[in-house]
Amino acid sequence: MNESYVEDVTIRVSVARFNRGPHFYQGCPFCQKKLSNAVKTCRMCGNCITCIVSYYSLKLVLRDETGNIDATVCKAGRDFTGVSANEFTAIEVENRKEAIELLRRNLGLQWEVDLKIDDSKQGIYVRIDRA
Ligand SMILES: [Zn+2]
Repeated sequence: MNESYVEDVTIRVSVARFNRGPHFYQGCPFCQKKLSNAVKTCRMCGNCITCIVSYYSLKLVLRDETGNIDATVCKAGRDFTGVSANEFTAIEVENRKEAIELLRRNLGLQWEVDLKIDDSKQGIYVRIDRA
């Protein structure tokens, strides 16, 4: 992930729902750029790719007293599922129901999150420090 964030706020939220998966992507082990299996050299960092690795990309809706907001959880995905991104990828590929169950355990739970608003991608990235 690049670090071109323009805003960084901490809010208390609950998870309203998870959007449709997949909730991971596969990318460069050096710079996390999304890659396909066929690639031999990363176009972002130029490193030679011998294996691609999984990263979390949990697509969900967070809720606080002011309303709902779409968010993507990247590094903090493990805080939601209890397993590594590689383990979660295997689960989601082989048994989607089990993956959904892992995610659903979080519904309604309160989290304190840092919202990172990234204007270069017009997306919101969430880092969870503690529940
Ligand atoms: Zn790379």
